[in-house]
Amino acid sequence: MPEPILEVKGLKKYFDIRGGIFGRKVGEVKAVDDVSFSVMEGEILGIVGESGCGKSTTGKSILRLIEPTEGEVNFLGQDVTKLKAEEMRQLRKDMQIIFQDPYASLNPRHTVEKIISEPLLIHGMTSKEERKKRVHELLEVVGLSSYHAARYPHQFSGGQRQRIGIARALANNPKLIICDEPVSALDVSVQSQILNLMEKLRDEFQLTYLFIAHDLSVIKHISDRIGVMYLGQMVELTDRDRLYENPKHPYTKALLSAVPLPDPDIKKERIILKGDVPSPADPPSGCPFHTRCPEMIDRCKEVKPKFQSVEDNHFVACHLYE
Ligand code: SF4
Repeated sequence: MPEPILEVKGLKKYFDIRGGIFGRKVGEVKAVDDVSFSVMEGEILGIVGESGCGKSTTGKSILRLIEPTEGEVNFLGQDVTKLKAEEMRQLRKDMQIIFQDPYASLNPRHTVEKIISEPLLIHGMTSKEERKKRVHELLEVVGLSSYHAARYPHQFSGGQRQRIGIARALANNPKLIICDEPVSALDVSVQSQILNLMEKLRDEFQLTYLFIAHDLSVIKHISDRIGVMYLGQMVELTDRDRLYENPKHPYTKALLSAVPLPDPDIKKERIILKGDVPSPADPPSGCPFHTRCPEMIDRCKEVKPKFQSVEDNHFVACHLYE
């Protein structure tokens, strides 16, 4: 039975809204509001939700690229939120991130060799020869060639640039990689190549991924388990197949009803949600989804549902299952 490598408990990230001539705090945006989940060693946990649901902020808060407001992030037996700067720097060797836009995340003035060498140097590989050898090895691992090391990011296609981003993330043999929309800037044909590469690398190097994406087919392709977020909260979490075959939360049902089926003869009813996603600066009372939920009952307006287990390995935040 795999053990959790990462346990997130009650994670919150609120951003202050400031206004007036003195720039006083006039409110807050609850980007991530009490999110809890675990990631098992060797698994790919997908987190999906519409833009602005807090999934990327969750990923960045785990790595403390954004300081969390509250909560625990236990990784390899340590609470990441309590670590000092030097301890955090050491820990980043084991916990890496791949960003959405491979072009923006690679310094255009540096060669690929310099880009991939940087994390090696930061974590103590002082010999230039050793770094060069490792860079060449990493380029081969991600499907590029050692001669690419002397080139600059603009000389590559989007897919190749993301391969460079992956090579950089792999440089110090991390245990966990947070993948923040890693294929959403790529063409569909290239997306599956990168997803297949990432799966292969997971098996080859016993990696664990927290995979954040808005695209349901991408999430389905790669994830072992999937968490669905809405307005800063996790509303459902279970195995990939169970989520797609038997979604329980009304928001998940609506999201999945919009995915086209491969067989045009099979008809399914699309659930159209009314209204827009409310502002996280002024979230609804009770269940955050009640303003749009087709199955709302009176209680939903007043009482926030608990995120709890409704079946073995199936968690839902909805009064219909309490
Ligand atoms: Fe809908 Fe109520 Fe369930 Fe929220 S708690 S998802 S409003 S039924």
